[in-house]
Amino acid sequence: MTQSSFVTHEVFNQSPPFEEVDLYALDRPLLGAVAAFGGGAAAEELSEFGSLWGSAEMAERGRVANANLPKLHAFDARGNRRDEIEYHPVYHELMAQSAEAGIHNSTWDAQGKAVGGAAEVIRAAKFYMAAQIETGHLCPITMTRASVAALAAEPGLLAKTIPVIGTRKYDPSFSPWWNKGGMTLGMGMTEKQGGTDVRSNTTRATREADAYRITGHKWFMSAPMSDAFLVLAQAEGGLTCFFMPRFLPDGSVNAIHFQRLKDKLGNRSNASSEVEFLRAYAVRVGEEGKGVRTILQMVQLTRQDCAIASAGLMRSGLVHALHHSRHRRVFEKRLADQPLTQAVLADMALQVEGSVAVVMRLCRAFDRAGNDLSEAAYMRLLTPAVKYWVCKSAPAFLYEAMECLGGNGYVEEGILARHYREAPVNAIWEGSGNVMCLDVLRALAREPEVSASVLQALSSECKGLPGTAEALELIGAAIRRKDSEHVARLAVETLALLAATAALNKVSPQQAELFALTRLATGHTGLYGAVDLSDEDIRVLLTRALP
Ligand SMILES: Cc1cc2nc3c(=O)[nH]c(=O)nc-3n(C[C@H](O)[C@H](O)[C@H](O)COP(=O)(O)OP(=O)(O)OC[C@H]3O[C@@H](n4cnc5c(N)ncnc54)[C@H](O)[C@@H]3O)c2cc1C
Repeated sequence: MTQSSFVTHEVFNQSPPFEEVDLYALDRPLLGAVAAFGGGAAAEELSEFGSLWGSAEMAERGRVANANLPKLHAFDARGNRRDEIEYHPVYHELMAQSAEAGIHNSTWDAQGKAVGGAAEVIRAAKFYMAAQIETGHLCPITMTRASVAALAAEPGLLAKTIPVIGTRKYDPSFSPWWNKGGMTLGMGMTEKQGGTDVRSNTTRATREADAYRITGHKWFMSAPMSDAFLVLAQAEGGLTCFFMPRFLPDGSVNAIHFQRLKDKLGNRSNASSEVEFLRAYAVRVGEEGKGVRTILQMVQLTRQDCAIASAGLMRSGLVHALHHSRHRRVFEKRLADQPLTQAVLADMALQVEGSVAVVMRLCRAFDRAGNDLSEAAYMRLLTPAVKYWVCKSAPAFLYEAMECLGGNGYVEEGILARHYREAPVNAIWEGSGNVMCLDVLRALAREPEVSASVLQALSSECKGLPGTAEALELIGAAIRRKDSEHVARLAVETLALLAATAALNKVSPQQAELFALTRLATGHTGLYGAVDLSDEDIRVLLTRALP
Protein backbone atom coordinates (compact mmCIF):
# COMPACT_ATOMS: atom_id res chain seq x y z
CA MET A 1 0.00 0.00 0.00
CA THR A 2 1.58 3.31 -1.07
CA GLN A 3 0.75 6.08 1.36
CA SER A 4 2.94 9.01 0.37
CA SER A 5 5.91 9.75 -1.79
CA PHE A 6 9.20 11.41 -0.81
CA VAL A 7 12.18 12.24 -3.04
CA THR A 8 14.14 9.55 -1.24
CA HIS A 9 11.48 6.86 -0.89
CA GLU A 10 7.87 5.88 -0.97
CA VAL A 11 5.96 5.10 2.19
CA PHE A 12 4.33 1.70 2.05
CA ASN A 13 3.66 -1.34 4.24
CA GLN A 14 2.44 0.84 7.12
CA SER A 15 -0.97 0.15 8.68
CA PRO A 16 -3.63 2.85 8.32
CA PRO A 17 -5.00 4.40 11.55
CA PHE A 18 -7.63 2.34 13.33
CA GLU A 19 -10.26 5.10 13.24
CA GLU A 20 -13.75 5.82 11.91
CA VAL A 21 -14.96 2.50 13.33
CA ASP A 22 -17.94 1.50 15.46
CA LEU A 23 -16.23 0.34 18.66
CA TYR A 24 -19.37 -1.56 19.63
CA ALA A 25 -20.42 -3.31 16.41
CA LEU A 26 -16.86 -4.53 15.76
CA ASP A 27 -16.50 -6.05 19.21
CA ARG A 28 -18.24 -9.43 19.32
CA PRO A 29 -17.05 -10.38 22.81
CA LEU A 30 -18.49 -7.09 24.11
CA LEU A 31 -21.74 -7.54 22.17
CA GLY A 32 -22.06 -11.07 23.53
CA ALA A 33 -21.34 -10.05 27.13
CA VAL A 34 -23.76 -7.12 27.04
CA ALA A 35 -26.48 -9.39 25.64
CA ALA A 36 -25.74 -12.26 28.06
CA PHE A 37 -25.98 -9.94 31.05
CA GLY A 38 -29.16 -8.12 30.12
CA GLY A 39 -28.18 -5.09 28.03
CA GLY A 40 -28.93 -6.38 24.52
CA ALA A 41 -31.87 -4.00 24.01
CA ALA A 42 -29.46 -1.04 24.11
CA ALA A 43 -27.56 -2.21 21.01
CA GLU A 44 -28.55 0.80 18.90
CA GLU A 45 -27.63 3.33 21.59
CA LEU A 46 -24.31 1.55 22.18
CA SER A 47 -23.55 1.42 18.48
CA GLU A 48 -24.16 5.15 18.19
CA PHE A 49 -21.84 5.72 21.13
CA GLY A 50 -19.26 3.32 19.62
CA SER A 51 -19.29 5.18 16.29
CA LEU A 52 -18.82 8.56 17.96
CA TRP A 53 -15.97 7.40 20.21
CA GLY A 54 -14.42 5.41 17.36
CA SER A 55 -14.20 8.53 15.18
CA ALA A 56 -10.94 10.17 14.16
CA GLU A 57 -12.13 13.34 15.89
CA MET A 58 -12.43 11.66 19.30
CA ALA A 59 -9.05 9.94 18.84
CA GLU A 60 -7.51 13.35 18.20
CA ARG A 61 -9.20 14.80 21.28
CA GLY A 62 -7.71 12.00 23.34
CA ARG A 63 -4.25 12.69 21.98
CA VAL A 64 -4.44 16.46 22.45
CA ALA A 65 -5.86 16.20 25.99
CA ASN A 66 -2.80 14.18 27.00
CA ALA A 67 -0.29 16.33 25.17
CA ASN A 68 -1.54 19.54 26.85
CA LEU A 69 -1.40 19.00 30.57
CA PRO A 70 -3.67 20.75 33.07
CA LYS A 71 -2.06 23.76 34.75
CA LEU A 72 -2.51 24.93 38.31
CA HIS A 73 -3.08 28.64 38.85
CA ALA A 74 -2.58 28.84 42.60
CA PHE A 75 -2.47 32.68 42.58
CA ASP A 76 -3.56 35.53 40.35
CA ALA A 77 -1.24 38.26 39.03
CA ARG A 78 -1.76 40.31 42.20
CA GLY A 79 -0.89 37.51 44.57
CA ASN A 80 -4.42 36.60 45.59
CA ARG A 81 -5.26 32.92 45.90
CA ARG A 82 -6.99 31.59 42.81
CA ASP A 83 -6.77 27.77 43.16
CA GLU A 84 -8.04 27.10 39.65
CA ILE A 85 -6.95 24.45 37.18
CA GLU A 86 -6.81 25.28 33.50
CA TYR A 87 -7.52 22.42 31.10
CA HIS A 88 -7.17 22.32 27.34
CA PRO A 89 -10.57 22.84 25.63
CA VAL A 90 -10.56 19.25 24.29
CA TYR A 91 -10.60 17.92 27.85
CA HIS A 92 -13.85 19.80 28.40
CA GLU A 93 -15.20 18.36 25.14
CA LEU A 94 -14.42 14.83 26.32
CA MET A 95 -16.13 15.54 29.64
CA ALA A 96 -19.16 16.95 27.84
CA GLN A 97 -19.47 13.87 25.62
CA SER A 98 -19.25 11.45 28.55
CA ALA A 99 -21.78 13.50 30.52
CA GLU A 100 -24.15 13.66 27.57
CA ALA A 101 -24.03 9.85 27.38
CA GLY A 102 -24.82 9.66 31.12
CA ILE A 103 -21.64 7.79 32.07
CA HIS A 104 -21.51 9.93 35.22
CA ASN A 105 -25.09 9.29 36.39
CA SER A 106 -27.18 6.87 34.30
CA THR A 107 -27.30 4.19 37.00
CA TRP A 108 -29.23 6.54 39.35
CA ASP A 109 -32.85 7.64 39.19
CA ALA A 110 -34.11 11.14 40.06
CA GLN A 111 -33.99 10.29 43.79
CA GLY A 112 -30.46 8.89 43.62
CA LYS A 113 -31.61 5.26 43.89
CA ALA A 114 -30.14 2.51 41.71
CA VAL A 115 -32.10 2.21 38.46
CA GLY A 116 -31.52 -1.55 38.16
CA GLY A 117 -32.59 -3.31 34.97
CA ALA A 118 -29.44 -3.34 32.87
CA ALA A 119 -28.35 0.23 33.62
CA GLU A 120 -24.98 -0.87 35.03
CA VAL A 121 -24.21 -3.15 32.09
CA ILE A 122 -25.14 -0.51 29.51
CA ARG A 123 -23.17 2.20 31.26
CA ALA A 124 -20.21 -0.17 31.64
CA ALA A 125 -20.21 -0.82 27.88
CA LYS A 126 -19.91 2.94 27.32
CA PHE A 127 -17.20 3.29 29.96
CA TYR A 128 -15.33 0.38 28.31
CA MET A 129 -15.44 2.07 24.90
CA ALA A 130 -14.57 5.55 26.18
CA ALA A 131 -11.56 4.07 28.03
CA GLN A 132 -10.23 2.85 24.68
CA ILE A 133 -9.94 6.46 23.52
CA GLU A 134 -9.21 8.62 26.61
CA THR A 135 -9.02 7.37 30.15
CA GLY A 136 -7.92 10.40 32.16
CA HIS A 137 -11.19 12.29 32.01
CA LEU A 138 -13.01 9.18 33.24
CA CYS A 139 -11.58 9.85 36.72
CA PRO A 140 -14.03 12.68 37.53
CA ILE A 141 -16.73 10.82 35.61
CA THR A 142 -16.38 7.70 37.77
CA MET A 143 -16.07 9.67 41.02
CA THR A 144 -19.18 11.70 40.26
CA ARG A 145 -21.20 8.57 39.55
CA ALA A 146 -19.86 6.79 42.63
CA SER A 147 -20.33 9.74 45.01
CA VAL A 148 -24.09 9.22 44.98
CA ALA A 149 -23.68 5.93 46.86
CA ALA A 150 -21.92 7.76 49.71
CA LEU A 151 -24.25 10.77 49.65
CA ALA A 152 -27.09 8.32 50.30
CA ALA A 153 -25.91 8.33 53.92
CA GLU A 154 -27.17 11.94 54.12
CA PRO A 155 -30.61 11.93 52.43
CA GLY A 156 -31.18 15.70 52.73
CA LEU A 157 -27.90 16.47 50.98
CA LEU A 158 -28.54 13.82 48.35
CA ALA A 159 -31.96 15.32 47.64
CA LYS A 160 -30.36 18.74 47.05
CA THR A 161 -27.44 17.55 44.91
CA ILE A 162 -29.01 14.80 42.80
CA PRO A 163 -30.95 17.21 40.53
CA VAL A 164 -27.59 18.80 39.58
CA ILE A 165 -25.64 15.52 39.40
CA GLY A 166 -28.55 14.04 37.46
CA THR A 167 -28.38 16.36 34.43
CA ARG A 168 -26.54 15.28 31.32
CA LYS A 169 -24.80 18.63 31.08
CA TYR A 170 -21.17 19.29 31.82
CA ASP A 171 -20.64 22.75 33.23
CA PRO A 172 -16.96 23.66 33.68
CA SER A 173 -17.63 27.14 35.11
CA PHE A 174 -16.01 27.95 38.45
CA SER A 175 -19.18 28.81 40.35
CA PRO A 176 -21.27 27.39 43.22
CA TRP A 177 -22.67 23.95 42.42
CA TRP A 178 -26.25 24.97 43.14
CA ASN A 179 -26.10 27.54 40.30
CA LYS A 180 -24.68 25.11 37.74
CA GLY A 181 -26.19 23.09 34.91
CA GLY A 182 -24.32 19.99 36.06
CA MET A 183 -21.72 19.14 38.68
CA THR A 184 -18.79 16.78 39.27
CA LEU A 185 -17.44 15.38 42.55
CA GLY A 186 -14.03 14.20 43.68
CA MET A 187 -12.72 12.33 46.70
CA GLY A 188 -10.01 13.08 49.27
CA MET A 189 -8.82 10.23 51.49
CA THR A 190 -5.08 9.75 50.96
CA GLU A 191 -2.65 11.68 53.17
CA LYS A 192 1.14 11.69 53.22
CA GLN A 193 1.42 9.23 56.08
CA GLY A 194 -1.17 6.77 54.76
CA GLY A 195 -3.41 6.00 51.82
CA THR A 196 -4.48 2.42 52.44
CA ASP A 197 -4.47 3.05 56.15
CA VAL A 198 -6.90 5.98 56.17
CA ARG A 199 -7.38 5.60 59.89
CA SER A 200 -4.01 7.35 60.18
CA ASN A 201 -5.59 10.54 58.70
CA THR A 202 -4.56 13.60 60.69
CA THR A 203 -6.88 16.12 58.99
CA ARG A 204 -9.23 17.44 61.67
CA ALA A 205 -12.86 18.55 61.57
CA THR A 206 -14.31 20.96 64.12
CA ARG A 207 -18.01 21.42 64.48
CA GLU A 208 -19.32 24.98 64.00
CA ALA A 209 -23.10 25.52 64.13
CA ASP A 210 -24.63 23.13 61.57
CA ALA A 211 -21.41 22.62 59.59
CA TYR A 212 -17.72 21.77 60.16
CA ARG A 213 -14.39 23.47 59.57
CA ILE A 214 -11.65 21.21 58.24
CA THR A 215 -7.92 21.78 58.59
CA GLY A 216 -5.25 19.49 57.19
CA HIS A 217 -4.08 18.10 53.86
CA LYS A 218 -4.55 15.43 51.21
CA TRP A 219 -1.52 14.03 49.41
CA PHE A 220 -3.52 12.90 46.38
CA MET A 221 -6.79 14.54 45.41
CA SER A 222 -7.65 14.09 41.75
CA ALA A 223 -9.95 16.15 39.55
CA PRO A 224 -9.35 19.29 41.64
CA MET A 225 -11.81 21.39 39.63
CA SER A 226 -14.66 19.23 40.90
CA ASP A 227 -17.53 21.19 42.42
CA ALA A 228 -17.29 19.30 45.70
CA PHE A 229 -15.23 16.55 47.32
CA LEU A 230 -16.07 13.74 49.68
CA VAL A 231 -13.31 14.04 52.24
CA LEU A 232 -12.31 12.01 55.29
CA ALA A 233 -11.32 13.88 58.45
CA GLN A 234 -11.09 13.20 62.18
CA ALA A 235 -14.10 14.62 64.04
CA GLU A 236 -14.78 14.29 67.75
CA GLY A 237 -16.53 10.97 67.16
CA GLY A 238 -13.75 9.58 64.92
CA LEU A 239 -13.01 9.39 61.21
CA THR A 240 -15.93 10.94 59.36
CA CYS A 241 -16.97 11.58 55.75
CA PHE A 242 -17.62 15.20 54.69
CA PHE A 243 -19.02 16.99 51.66
CA MET A 244 -16.63 19.87 50.95
CA PRO A 245 -17.88 22.25 48.23
CA ARG A 246 -15.67 24.72 46.30
CA PHE A 247 -17.98 27.56 47.46
CA LEU A 248 -19.55 28.36 50.84
CA PRO A 249 -23.31 28.89 51.07
CA ASP A 250 -22.70 32.68 50.98
CA GLY A 251 -21.00 32.29 47.58
CA SER A 252 -17.42 32.91 48.78
CA VAL A 253 -14.63 30.54 47.70
CA ASN A 254 -13.85 27.73 50.18
CA ALA A 255 -10.34 27.49 51.70
CA ILE A 256 -9.22 24.55 49.51
CA HIS A 257 -5.66 25.45 48.59
CA PHE A 258 -3.96 23.39 45.89
CA GLN A 259 -0.20 23.15 46.49
CA ARG A 260 0.87 21.54 43.23
CA LEU A 261 -0.20 19.01 40.62
CA LYS A 262 1.39 15.56 40.49
CA ASP A 263 3.79 14.86 37.64
CA LYS A 264 2.41 11.43 36.76
CA LEU A 265 3.57 8.46 34.67
CA GLY A 266 0.25 8.40 32.83
CA ASN A 267 -3.30 9.64 33.39
CA ARG A 268 -1.95 12.97 32.24
CA SER A 269 -5.09 14.67 30.96
CA ASN A 270 -6.48 14.33 34.48
CA ALA A 271 -5.09 16.62 37.17
CA SER A 272 -4.20 15.12 40.56
CA SER A 273 -3.44 17.63 43.27
CA GLU A 274 -1.72 17.97 46.60
CA VAL A 275 -4.00 20.14 48.69
CA GLU A 276 -4.32 21.87 52.04
CA PHE A 277 -7.55 22.79 53.80
CA LEU A 278 -7.44 25.83 56.06
CA ARG A 279 -10.67 25.81 58.06
CA ALA A 280 -12.43 24.70 54.90
CA TYR A 281 -16.22 24.58 55.14
CA ALA A 282 -17.82 21.13 54.95
CA VAL A 283 -20.98 19.29 55.94
CA ARG A 284 -21.10 15.82 57.41
CA VAL A 285 -22.11 12.79 55.34
CA GLY A 286 -23.31 9.99 57.59
CA GLU A 287 -22.56 9.67 61.27
CA GLU A 288 -19.38 10.81 62.98
CA GLY A 289 -16.98 7.89 63.26
CA LYS A 290 -18.55 6.05 60.31
CA GLY A 291 -16.40 7.72 57.64
CA VAL A 292 -14.77 4.58 56.28
CA ARG A 293 -18.04 2.72 56.03
CA THR A 294 -19.66 5.72 54.27
CA ILE A 295 -16.91 6.33 51.73
CA LEU A 296 -16.54 2.61 51.00
CA GLN A 297 -19.97 2.78 49.34
CA MET A 298 -18.34 5.10 46.82
CA VAL A 299 -15.10 3.15 46.56
CA GLN A 300 -16.95 -0.07 45.74
CA LEU A 301 -18.17 1.63 42.56
CA THR A 302 -14.86 3.21 41.60
CA ARG A 303 -13.24 -0.22 41.98
CA GLN A 304 -15.78 -1.60 39.55
CA ASP A 305 -14.85 1.18 37.09
CA CYS A 306 -11.11 0.49 37.46
CA ALA A 307 -11.77 -3.04 36.21
CA ILE A 308 -13.96 -1.84 33.34
CA ALA A 309 -11.36 0.73 32.26
CA SER A 310 -8.49 -1.75 32.39
CA ALA A 311 -10.48 -4.24 30.32
CA GLY A 312 -11.16 -1.40 27.84
CA LEU A 313 -7.46 -0.53 27.66
CA MET A 314 -6.64 -4.18 26.90
CA ARG A 315 -9.34 -4.30 24.23
CA SER A 316 -7.81 -1.24 22.60
CA GLY A 317 -4.34 -2.81 22.72
CA LEU A 318 -5.69 -5.98 21.14
CA VAL A 319 -7.51 -4.31 18.23
CA HIS A 320 -4.60 -2.02 17.41
CA ALA A 321 -2.27 -5.04 17.39
CA LEU A 322 -4.65 -7.11 15.29
CA HIS A 323 -5.41 -4.28 12.87
CA HIS A 324 -1.71 -3.61 12.38
CA SER A 325 -0.86 -7.26 11.86
CA ARG A 326 -3.48 -7.51 9.12
CA HIS A 327 -1.80 -4.71 7.17
CA ARG A 328 1.87 -5.19 7.86
CA ARG A 329 3.84 -7.64 5.72
CA VAL A 330 7.06 -9.26 6.91
CA PHE A 331 9.00 -11.72 4.72
CA GLU A 332 6.30 -11.35 2.02
CA LYS A 333 3.56 -12.55 4.29
CA ARG A 334 1.11 -10.56 6.41
CA LEU A 335 1.98 -10.63 10.10
CA ALA A 336 -1.55 -11.83 10.72
CA ASP A 337 -0.74 -14.98 8.70
CA GLN A 338 2.46 -15.77 10.60
CA PRO A 339 1.67 -18.67 12.96
CA LEU A 340 3.60 -17.21 15.87
CA THR A 341 1.83 -13.85 15.61
CA GLN A 342 -1.47 -15.71 15.42
CA ALA A 343 -0.66 -17.57 18.65
CA VAL A 344 0.18 -14.32 20.45
CA LEU A 345 -2.88 -12.44 19.20
CA ALA A 346 -5.28 -15.33 19.85
CA ASP A 347 -4.02 -15.72 23.40
CA MET A 348 -4.44 -11.98 23.93
CA ALA A 349 -7.94 -12.17 22.45
CA LEU A 350 -8.77 -14.93 24.94
CA GLN A 351 -7.58 -12.76 27.81
CA VAL A 352 -9.88 -9.96 26.66
CA GLU A 353 -12.77 -12.41 26.21
CA GLY A 354 -12.44 -13.48 29.85
CA SER A 355 -11.94 -9.93 31.10
CA VAL A 356 -14.92 -8.35 29.39
CA ALA A 357 -17.18 -11.29 30.26
CA VAL A 358 -16.36 -11.17 33.98
CA VAL A 359 -16.54 -7.37 34.11
CA MET A 360 -20.02 -7.38 32.55
CA ARG A 361 -21.08 -10.23 34.82
CA LEU A 362 -19.96 -8.15 37.79
CA CYS A 363 -21.97 -5.20 36.47
CA ARG A 364 -25.05 -7.38 36.27
CA ALA A 365 -24.53 -8.20 39.95
CA PHE A 366 -24.47 -4.45 40.65
CA ASP A 367 -27.72 -4.14 38.68
CA ARG A 368 -29.44 -6.85 40.68
CA ALA A 369 -27.84 -6.63 44.12
CA GLY A 370 -30.66 -4.53 45.56
CA ASN A 371 -33.25 -7.27 45.01
CA ASP A 372 -31.24 -10.47 45.01
CA LEU A 373 -29.10 -11.66 47.92
CA SER A 374 -27.04 -14.04 45.82
CA GLU A 375 -26.15 -11.23 43.40
CA ALA A 376 -25.27 -9.00 46.37
CA ALA A 377 -22.95 -11.75 47.64
CA TYR A 378 -21.37 -12.11 44.19
CA MET A 379 -20.82 -8.35 44.06
CA ARG A 380 -19.21 -8.27 47.51
CA LEU A 381 -16.80 -11.15 46.89
CA LEU A 382 -15.97 -10.57 43.24
CA THR A 383 -15.52 -6.76 43.09
CA PRO A 384 -12.06 -6.87 44.73
CA ALA A 385 -11.12 -10.12 42.98
CA VAL A 386 -12.05 -8.82 39.51
CA LYS A 387 -10.40 -5.45 40.17
CA TYR A 388 -7.26 -7.29 41.25
CA TRP A 389 -7.02 -9.64 38.28
CA VAL A 390 -8.16 -7.37 35.44
CA CYS A 391 -6.23 -4.28 36.56
CA LYS A 392 -3.04 -6.19 37.30
CA SER A 393 -3.07 -8.01 33.97
CA ALA A 394 -3.42 -4.82 31.92
CA PRO A 395 0.17 -3.42 32.03
CA ALA A 396 1.80 -6.65 30.79
CA PHE A 397 -0.93 -7.08 28.21
CA LEU A 398 -0.40 -3.58 26.83
CA TYR A 399 3.33 -4.12 26.68
CA GLU A 400 2.69 -7.17 24.46
CA ALA A 401 0.24 -5.20 22.32
CA MET A 402 2.89 -2.51 21.83
CA GLU A 403 5.43 -5.10 20.75
CA CYS A 404 3.01 -6.40 18.11
CA LEU A 405 3.42 -3.02 16.37
CA GLY A 406 7.18 -3.19 16.59
CA GLY A 407 8.88 0.20 16.94
CA ASN A 408 5.69 2.06 16.01
CA GLY A 409 4.10 0.74 19.19
CA TYR A 410 6.71 2.45 21.33
CA VAL A 411 6.41 6.00 20.05
CA GLU A 412 4.07 8.67 21.30
CA GLU A 413 2.18 9.32 18.05
CA GLY A 414 0.39 6.00 18.54
CA ILE A 415 -2.07 5.35 21.32
CA LEU A 416 -0.35 2.28 22.78
CA ALA A 417 2.45 4.13 24.55
CA ARG A 418 -0.21 6.23 26.28
CA HIS A 419 -2.27 3.17 27.20
CA TYR A 420 0.83 1.47 28.57
CA ARG A 421 1.62 4.41 30.83
CA GLU A 422 -2.01 4.63 31.91
CA ALA A 423 -2.50 0.97 32.78
CA PRO A 424 -0.77 0.62 36.19
CA VAL A 425 -2.79 3.31 37.94
CA ASN A 426 -5.99 1.25 37.98
CA ALA A 427 -4.20 -1.38 40.04
CA ILE A 428 -2.74 1.21 42.43
CA TRP A 429 -5.62 3.55 43.27
CA GLU A 430 -8.93 2.63 44.88
CA GLY A 431 -7.20 -0.15 46.80
CA SER A 432 -3.90 -1.58 45.54
CA GLY A 433 -3.38 -5.25 44.67
CA ASN A 434 -2.62 -6.60 48.13
CA VAL A 435 -5.43 -4.56 49.61
CA MET A 436 -7.86 -6.18 47.16
CA CYS A 437 -6.62 -9.64 48.14
CA LEU A 438 -7.04 -8.84 51.83
CA ASP A 439 -10.55 -7.59 51.09
CA VAL A 440 -11.46 -10.91 49.48
CA LEU A 441 -10.10 -12.76 52.52
CA ARG A 442 -12.16 -10.46 54.75
CA ALA A 443 -15.35 -11.24 52.84
CA LEU A 444 -14.62 -14.96 53.01
CA ALA A 445 -13.93 -14.83 56.75
CA ARG A 446 -16.82 -12.58 57.76
CA GLU A 447 -19.54 -14.34 55.80
CA PRO A 448 -18.25 -17.85 55.12
CA GLU A 449 -21.64 -19.32 54.23
CA VAL A 450 -22.55 -16.52 51.84
CA SER A 451 -19.15 -16.77 50.17
CA ALA A 452 -19.46 -20.55 49.99
CA SER A 453 -22.73 -20.15 48.11
CA VAL A 454 -21.02 -17.85 45.56
CA LEU A 455 -18.28 -20.46 45.06
CA GLN A 456 -20.91 -23.19 44.77
CA ALA A 457 -22.74 -21.23 42.06
CA LEU A 458 -19.48 -20.63 40.17
CA SER A 459 -18.75 -24.33 40.40
CA SER A 460 -22.04 -25.34 38.83
CA GLU A 461 -21.74 -22.66 36.14
CA CYS A 462 -18.33 -24.11 35.19
CA LYS A 463 -19.36 -27.75 35.43
CA GLY A 464 -17.27 -30.01 33.21
CA LEU A 465 -14.81 -27.31 32.20
CA PRO A 466 -11.13 -28.26 32.58
CA GLY A 467 -9.35 -27.28 35.77
CA THR A 468 -12.36 -25.78 37.51
CA ALA A 469 -12.75 -28.47 40.19
CA GLU A 470 -9.05 -28.15 41.08
CA ALA A 471 -9.40 -24.36 41.20
CA LEU A 472 -12.20 -24.64 43.74
CA GLU A 473 -10.14 -27.00 45.85
CA LEU A 474 -7.20 -24.59 45.76
CA ILE A 475 -9.35 -21.67 46.89
CA GLY A 476 -10.92 -23.74 49.71
CA ALA A 477 -7.53 -24.95 50.93
CA ALA A 478 -6.06 -21.44 50.82
CA ILE A 479 -8.89 -20.01 52.92
CA ARG A 480 -8.54 -22.73 55.55
CA ARG A 481 -4.83 -22.09 56.03
CA LYS A 482 -3.77 -20.21 59.16
CA ASP A 483 -1.32 -18.21 57.03
CA SER A 484 -3.91 -17.52 54.33
CA GLU A 485 -2.40 -14.09 53.56
CA HIS A 486 0.72 -15.84 52.22
CA VAL A 487 -1.34 -17.51 49.51
CA ALA A 488 -3.97 -14.79 49.10
CA ARG A 489 -2.74 -13.70 45.66
CA LEU A 490 -2.84 -17.29 44.43
CA ALA A 491 -6.35 -17.80 45.79
CA VAL A 492 -7.72 -14.47 44.54
CA GLU A 493 -6.28 -14.84 41.05
CA THR A 494 -7.75 -18.35 40.88
CA LEU A 495 -11.11 -17.04 42.08
CA ALA A 496 -11.09 -14.35 39.39
CA LEU A 497 -10.14 -16.90 36.70
CA LEU A 498 -12.95 -19.17 37.86
CA ALA A 499 -15.43 -16.30 37.76
CA ALA A 500 -14.18 -15.30 34.30
CA THR A 501 -14.62 -18.89 33.08
CA ALA A 502 -18.17 -18.99 34.45
CA ALA A 503 -19.04 -15.61 32.92
CA LEU A 504 -17.52 -16.54 29.56
CA ASN A 505 -19.47 -19.80 29.60
CA LYS A 506 -22.65 -17.69 29.50
CA VAL A 507 -21.31 -15.61 26.59
CA SER A 508 -19.57 -18.25 24.47
CA PRO A 509 -19.03 -21.82 25.76
CA GLN A 510 -16.41 -22.49 23.08
CA GLN A 511 -14.23 -19.66 24.37
CA ALA A 512 -14.90 -20.63 27.98
CA GLU A 513 -13.49 -24.09 27.29
CA LEU A 514 -10.32 -22.56 25.81
CA PHE A 515 -10.05 -20.07 28.65
CA ALA A 516 -10.32 -22.79 31.29
CA LEU A 517 -7.88 -25.01 29.42
CA THR A 518 -5.20 -22.33 29.12
CA ARG A 519 -5.74 -20.49 32.42
CA LEU A 520 -7.02 -23.04 34.93
CA ALA A 521 -6.06 -26.55 33.75
CA THR A 522 -2.56 -25.41 32.78
CA GLY A 523 -1.15 -22.36 34.50
CA HIS A 524 -0.74 -19.37 32.19
CA THR A 525 2.74 -17.89 32.39
CA GLY A 526 1.53 -14.33 31.83
CA LEU A 527 3.53 -14.20 28.58
CA TYR A 528 1.20 -14.26 25.60
CA GLY A 529 1.32 -16.90 22.90
CA ALA A 530 2.77 -19.66 25.07
CA VAL A 531 -0.37 -21.76 24.56
CA ASP A 532 -1.33 -24.55 22.18
CA LEU A 533 -4.43 -23.46 20.24
CA SER A 534 -5.70 -25.09 17.03
CA ASP A 535 -5.90 -23.19 13.73
CA GLU A 536 -9.67 -23.19 14.02
CA ASP A 537 -9.60 -21.86 17.60
CA ILE A 538 -7.28 -19.08 16.46
CA ARG A 539 -9.48 -18.22 13.49
CA VAL A 540 -12.61 -18.01 15.63
CA LEU A 541 -10.94 -15.96 18.37
CA LEU A 542 -9.46 -13.45 15.96
CA THR A 543 -12.64 -13.10 13.92
CA ARG A 544 -14.62 -12.49 17.08
CA ALA A 545 -12.06 -9.90 18.19
CA LEU A 546 -12.13 -7.99 14.90
CA PRO A 547 -14.20 -9.30 11.98
C1 LIG B 1 -2.73 9.15 39.90
C2 LIG B 1 -3.28 8.97 41.27
C3 LIG B 1 -4.41 9.66 41.62
C4 LIG B 1 -4.95 9.50 42.90
N1 LIG B 1 -6.09 10.18 43.24
C5 LIG B 1 -6.58 10.06 44.49
C6 LIG B 1 -7.75 10.79 44.89
O1 LIG B 1 -8.36 11.49 44.09
N2 LIG B 1 -8.16 10.68 46.17
C7 LIG B 1 -7.53 9.89 47.08
O2 LIG B 1 -7.95 9.83 48.22
N3 LIG B 1 -6.43 9.18 46.74
C8 LIG B 1 -5.95 9.25 45.46
N4 LIG B 1 -4.83 8.54 45.11
C9 LIG B 1 -4.13 7.78 46.11
C10 LIG B 1 -4.28 6.28 46.02
O3 LIG B 1 -5.59 5.89 46.28
C11 LIG B 1 -3.26 5.67 46.98
O4 LIG B 1 -1.97 5.94 46.44
C12 LIG B 1 -3.46 4.19 47.21
O5 LIG B 1 -4.64 3.97 47.92
C13 LIG B 1 -2.29 3.57 47.99
O6 LIG B 1 -2.02 4.29 49.14
P1 LIG B 1 -0.53 4.79 49.48
O7 LIG B 1 -0.02 5.51 48.26
O8 LIG B 1 -0.55 5.54 50.72
O9 LIG B 1 0.31 3.48 49.61
P2 LIG B 1 0.36 2.43 50.93
O10 LIG B 1 -0.94 2.54 51.58
O11 LIG B 1 1.57 2.85 51.68
O12 LIG B 1 0.56 1.11 50.19
C14 LIG B 1 1.81 0.71 49.60
C15 LIG B 1 1.71 -0.74 49.19
O13 LIG B 1 1.49 -1.53 50.33
C16 LIG B 1 0.46 -2.47 50.09
N5 LIG B 1 -0.20 -2.79 51.34
C17 LIG B 1 -0.96 -1.98 52.11
N6 LIG B 1 -1.41 -2.63 53.19
C18 LIG B 1 -0.92 -3.89 53.12
C19 LIG B 1 -1.00 -5.04 53.95
N7 LIG B 1 -1.71 -5.03 55.07
N8 LIG B 1 -0.37 -6.17 53.56
C20 LIG B 1 0.34 -6.19 52.43
N9 LIG B 1 0.47 -5.13 51.60
C21 LIG B 1 -0.15 -3.99 51.95
C22 LIG B 1 -0.45 -1.81 49.06
O14 LIG B 1 -1.16 -2.78 48.30
C23 LIG B 1 0.56 -1.05 48.23
O15 LIG B 1 1.02 -1.86 47.19
C24 LIG B 1 -4.31 8.65 43.82
C25 LIG B 1 -3.16 7.95 43.44
C26 LIG B 1 -2.65 8.11 42.18
C27 LIG B 1 -1.41 7.34 41.79
